[in-house]
Amino acid sequence: MILFWHRRDLRIEDNAGLYKALQSGEPVQPIFIFDKTILQELPRTDQRVRFLYQTLQQLKEDYRSLGSDLFVHYGTPSEFFSTIDQRFQGVTAVYTNRDYEPYARKRDQEVHHLLTQQQIEFIGAKDHVIFEKNEVLKDDGTPYKVFTPYSRKWKEKLQTDFIQPYPTFEHTNSLVQLTSPFELLSMSDMGFENVELHHFPSKDVPKNIIQTYHETRDIPSLKGTTRVSLHLRFGTISIRQLTQSAAINEKYLNELIWRDFYQMILYHFPHTVDRAFKPEYDRVEWVNNPEHFESWCQGRTGYPIVDAGMRELNATGFMHNRVRMIVASFLTKHLLIDWRWGEAYFAEKLLDFELGSNVGGWQWAASCGVDAQPYFRIFNPTSQQEKFDPQYTYIKTWVPEFGTSAYPAPIVEHKQAREKAIATFKLAIQQK
Ligand code: FAD
Repeated sequence: MILFWHRRDLRIEDNAGLYKALQSGEPVQPIFIFDKTILQELPRTDQRVRFLYQTLQQLKEDYRSLGSDLFVHYGTPSEFFSTIDQRFQGVTAVYTNRDYEPYARKRDQEVHHLLTQQQIEFIGAKDHVIFEKNEVLKDDGTPYKVFTPYSRKWKEKLQTDFIQPYPTFEHTNSLVQLTSPFELLSMSDMGFENVELHHFPSKDVPKNIIQTYHETRDIPSLKGTTRVSLHLRFGTISIRQLTQSAAINEKYLNELIWRDFYQMILYHFPHTVDRAFKPEYDRVEWVNNPEHFESWCQGRTGYPIVDAGMRELNATGFMHNRVRMIVASFLTKHLLIDWRWGEAYFAEKLLDFELGSNVGGWQWAASCGVDAQPYFRIFNPTSQQEKFDPQYTYIKTWVPEFGTSAYPAPIVEHKQAREKAIATFKLAIQQK
């Protein structure tokens, strides 16, 4: 028997690792592990756990309609794989799709070790990205650190082979057939509240939005972006399928390439999780005023485009990309608060949280990352609002008291804050 271990690929359709397992000629039992190590860090009302739970219920249904079932375990992967034989007899291999985050890589090394001791193979596949690890490198064999040449090489390399879907449904007769269904433990068994679900975006790829994406993507009051990030994060849609749909709009395709780029950077430079890609920026003397941080988190800075973004995040777990850039720039430049504080806040709140893109986005805004915004180019929140929300439509949705005396005065003055930020950053990078 073969186990197929689902992680961030919660679908049957076009699933690379599952396809390979089904092709192996042995019966395949799909499994998922609710990892206690990750879950214990999360708030008891975390919407992502709820989304995950609901998605697993659906995945179980999908397997059941094929006469099989998904086995869901609650514990740690190491504990599960060290006693594998007590649950499933005669396992010869475990297949999975690769995950590039540092925690996941360490976990997989441990699992590999445990399986090898039991003469069980551990086989990984590429599913989460189009190009991984060393597939897009500079001519000298080193990783790209600048996006544009990376994206050029990425596009040159893209041939239909890389985005052909894996026809998993043609091979589902290799799935272990169900004798009696596996029970799914409840949310409360895992210590989580059965919170009401937000309205999660649909996983249908909105082709009409992709078509006009270059015109609408920067306007936060419009439904002008595809809202697929949550589904890419959990693998409820396939990146290959999405990339095929992106063929009609290069601007959109470029955004998918940014995602691959940041995953590649995370793989090659895992230290960037909590240190600047450009080490001299680790010398920036952050002010880290806790009251300012609190005002930023609550959306009460007195800069309405910043406040609208933070309130959208707090209320829905989503924030528009243009506004993510504005609020991140404001925190790190206007307030001189360490980008790691902002990154951690986003990691807690964003439903689509992905370590690579989040660290990448934060280090871009804080000027300390690969191909980042230069430190002296600081977004002016007022001109950003004039350009991207001129009628205050987005702002009025999230900050209803804007324009009344109930709305707070700005916590810092733009010109002074800008000058202070430039001086502070300059000092840090000029130090020997
Ligand atoms: P669309 O604009 O429709 O784009 C389609 C897909 O392309 C996205 O779903 C995403 O997978 C990818 N993409 C788009 N923009 C980027 C980008 N700049 N970098 C990497 N991938 C991109 N994205 C996350 O998925 N998770 C995060 O934790 C995350 N944190 C961010 C933090 C900051 C400070 C910034 C500036 C950006 C962050 N992003 C993150 C990138 C981007 O904001 C979101 O991917 C996007 O807003 C999701 O909405 P969408 O699906 O409608 O995107």
